[in-house]
Amino acid sequence: MQKAILVLNAGSSSIKFSVFRQNGGSDLELDSKGQIEGIGVRPRFSAKSASGEKLIEEEWEKKESGGHGRAFANLAAWLKGHYQDQVELAAVGHRVLHGGQEYAKPIRVDAKVMEKLRSFISLGPLHQPNNLAGIDAAMEETPEIPQIACFDTAFHRGREPVTDRFALPRKYEDLGVLRYGFHGLSYEYIARAIGEQAPHLADKRVVVAHLGNGSSMCALKNGRSYDTTMGFTALDGLCMGTRTGAIDAGVLLWLLQDQGMDAKQIETLLYKESGLLGISGGLSSDMRDLLESDDPKAADAVEFFVYRIVKELGALTAAMGGLDALVFTAGIGENSAEIRKRVVERASAFGFKLDAAANANGRGCITTESSTPEVWVIPTNEELMIAQHAANIVGL
Ligand code: ADP
Repeated sequence: MQKAILVLNAGSSSIKFSVFRQNGGSDLELDSKGQIEGIGVRPRFSAKSASGEKLIEEEWEKKESGGHGRAFANLAAWLKGHYQDQVELAAVGHRVLHGGQEYAKPIRVDAKVMEKLRSFISLGPLHQPNNLAGIDAAMEETPEIPQIACFDTAFHRGREPVTDRFALPRKYEDLGVLRYGFHGLSYEYIARAIGEQAPHLADKRVVVAHLGNGSSMCALKNGRSYDTTMGFTALDGLCMGTRTGAIDAGVLLWLLQDQGMDAKQIETLLYKESGLLGISGGLSSDMRDLLESDDPKAADAVEFFVYRIVKELGALTAAMGGLDALVFTAGIGENSAEIRKRVVERASAFGFKLDAAANANGRGCITTESSTPEVWVIPTNEELMIAQHAANIVGL
């Protein structure tokens, strides 16, 4: 029987999943992927094969709606029916937002680890509880299968202390108020992909721009995280779909003291109503809509998005001591030639020489041969990274 790894990414009302099969050698190949959306309301389940062929699409209205537990039980039943006896699950790999200071690597979850992970809920209140609900559900339904937690923070551990620190009284650092950084599974995947696709850059200075709904940048030095734009939470740094990115903490004091807003209202404002959506006057958080719109506020949002990337590129380059390449990845980074062009043009101080045809094509190196630094587009694959980690831990 072929071995496989199930990868889960559990959100507040959704569970995304991927199944990776071990092919002839030790490589893992995507076999199917899908999601359950509308958990707790009216769950919808869909799955596709790796080639995009529809495997199932159904509403679970009639089935007990339930929470993550019910949703996972239904998923497990579908997997069993779909794969019959051809595939044996060797592990479930979970995407987990926060590993705190403790976890610099993925770990097999037991009750003790779960307890520790729950103590990080206050560090990621919007994501961590949902990620853990996914693990709880899988542990309950498939207790015999190893559950592996893979953290978005782990890749950033072990940096120089100066990059982790806030200028707060020391006792807050002791309480764990540090710049953890996120999107670590994406950056780890890109660091490995650079080793394969552009080995001449593997031990150089590279800034990776992960531009999606959530966006951040990471300075990679010798393939390791040197610094990154997200900090204590996934709110810091770049302008995102609905998140502010970096904001003067004085604004929060003003909102509290002068505008009478409470913490919950400020949380909603900062996480859900700001960023591209906020600047565009509520038009859209989706970069495609903004690029297509002729509303001046949409143009303002795009300009701000690009400006923040260029500014952070300068900061990370100076912090790391130079730049050999810029890599674009994630939804916007991989798909928008227009945003890449605008970033490169605005960052003219770096002297990038964009190859227009290569940029339009959107894969691999997109600068001319004489360009230093280079610019690359490398698609990220956080799910495969999680599957590989899980496979390593169970010795697959
Ligand atoms: P998430 O952070 O949710 O994983 P993704 O990495 O999937 O996000 O990125 C989603 C973003 O990618 C959306 O803002 C979407 O508009 C953008 N995007 C996808 N395709 C394009 C495109 N062709 N041009 C511009 N933006 C795109």
